[in-house]
Parts: sequence; C-alpha cells; structure tokens
Amino acid sequence: MGRVNDTKTALVTGANKGIGFAIAQGLGAIGFTVAVGARDDGRREEAVARLRAGGVDAFGVALDVTSDGSVAEAAAAIEETAGRLDVLVNNAGISGRADGGAQEPTTLDLDVVRTVLDTNVFGVVRVTNAMLPLLRRAASPRIVNMSSSMGSLALQPGPVLAAYAPSKSMLNGITTQYARQLADTHVIVNACCPGYVATDFTGFAAPRTPEQGAAIAIRLATLPDDGPRGGFFDDDGVVPW
Ligand code: NAP
Repeated sequence: MGRVNDTKTALVTGANKGIGFAIAQGLGAIGFTVAVGARDDGRREEAVARLRAGGVDAFGVALDVTSDGSVAEAAAAIEETAGRLDVLVNNAGISGRADGGAQEPTTLDLDVVRTVLDTNVFGVVRVTNAMLPLLRRAASPRIVNMSSSMGSLALQPGPVLAAYAPSKSMLNGITTQYARQLADTHVIVNACCPGYVATDFTGFAAPRTPEQGAAIAIRLATLPDDGPRGGFFDDDGVVPW
C-alpha cells in the first residue's frame, strides 16, 4: 500500500489498550498514520479496527518489545509500509508481579526485576535502535519514552515497588543518554509521565482518563524543531528527576 510522502507515520508500542491506544487515537486525530504495535494478534487487529472506525489511518505491526526478532520484523514491516518513521512512542510497559514481597527490597525477586527491565528498559532500547534508521529519514523525528513519576528519585510517589519504580528511573537515565548522543541530530528524545490513569495497569482505579494520560506524550511527539531535549515532563511541566 503506497503512502504519500507528506503523511507522517507514528509507531506506538503497546497501542492495543490503555494509554497507548489513546496516544494512537490522538496522533491519528491530528493526521498521523499510526502503526499500532502490539504483541497479540487478536488484540492488535481489534485495536486497528476500532481506530479505523474512528477515522484513524491505522495499520497493525506485530511487536513484542522483549524479542529481538519481533522488533526487527516490526522495523522491516514499517519500512515496507511507510518507508520512514516520524514518531516513536515507547509506551509498552509492565508493573511486574508484586505478590509475596516480590517487589519489596528485602525479599526482592530478581526474576521479577529482570522481567520488568526487559520490557520497560531493554524493550525501549531494542525498539529505539531498530527504528532509528527509519526515524533518521524523517524531517523532524521525535521519540517519546513513557516513564512514570514513580521513577523520580526526588518525588518517590506511590507504593514501594522495587522492580517497577527503578525501571522507570533507568528509563529516564537512558532517555538522557540518547538525547546526549543525538544532540547534534534532528532526533528529539524526551520522557514523560501520564499521571495516575485508569487502565488495566491500575485496575481502572485511578482518577485520570487514558486520553488525559496520552496528552503529554502527544505534545512531546509533536514538538517543534527547537523543542526541549532529554527532559522529563508531565502536564504541569518538568518532572524532577
Ligand atoms: P496497560 O493498559 O496495562 O497497557 C500496557 C500496554 O503495554 C499493553 O498494550 C500491553 O500489551 C503492552 N505490553 C506489555 N508488555 C509488552 C511487550 N512485551 N511487548 C509489547 N507490548 C507490551 O497500561 P497503561 O496504564 O496504558 O500503561 C502504559 C504505559 O504508561 C506503561 O509504560 C506504564 O508504565 C506507564 N504509566 C502508566 C500509569 C498509569 O497510571 N496507568 C502511570 C505512570 C506510567 P498486552 O495487552 O499484550 O499486555
């Protein structure tokens, strides 16, 4: 399927539900073609159908961020369909098991830590590095990493979660490293916090809607060329590290 060159394409990881789906909807509403990255075929196809029903130009991309092979195939699929990538939103994330003290430091289950890092941090690195050649072909490429204020060492909000919270601290650190390496390029990289959002992730027991959570990611995905780099933002501005 050929696509006109002036249509911008955005890949959102974990776009089948929650905040990722809302980011896909929001970017689609402002004219992006949206690549819906999701690991489950059925959930992905259903999300693509819902987006298309809402008028969004969406296509599905099989993507498990923990698999090198899946990520490489996703990059090949986007190259084939769109030829380049304008926006990458690294949204996919997990909290990890917390039963039986699995995320209390004194009884920390290191397998849980590995699993959470593999998705929340290594997954972002895998996807970003696979997509960078496609992003570099765009005029104003943007990368947005969905972090959390739980990763803020200054704020330390929420419960003790010694796999999840440090995974977002490391994601913030990695974000600054990317921004430093890409400082002389047109690729702008930032991290954001969506606030406390009603999704599966929070058992839908949180005050903000997925659309509210998506807003900061959409803003960072559409920054002007002189926009901030290597920062951590929410709706209210800069989030302390
Ligand atoms: P959610 O409803 O649980 O959605 C998470 C998404 O990530 C799902 O699409 C899920 O796919 C996907 N995912 C998980 N592991 C994946 C993998 N290995 N490969 C590909 N996709 C994968 O959670 P959410 O609340 O929307 O969270 C989205 C992001 O926001 C996460 O990074 C989270 O840490 C962050 N965040 C959320 C909140 C909040 O209050 N909700 C607050 C701060 C930060 P499946 O459906 O296949 O599992």
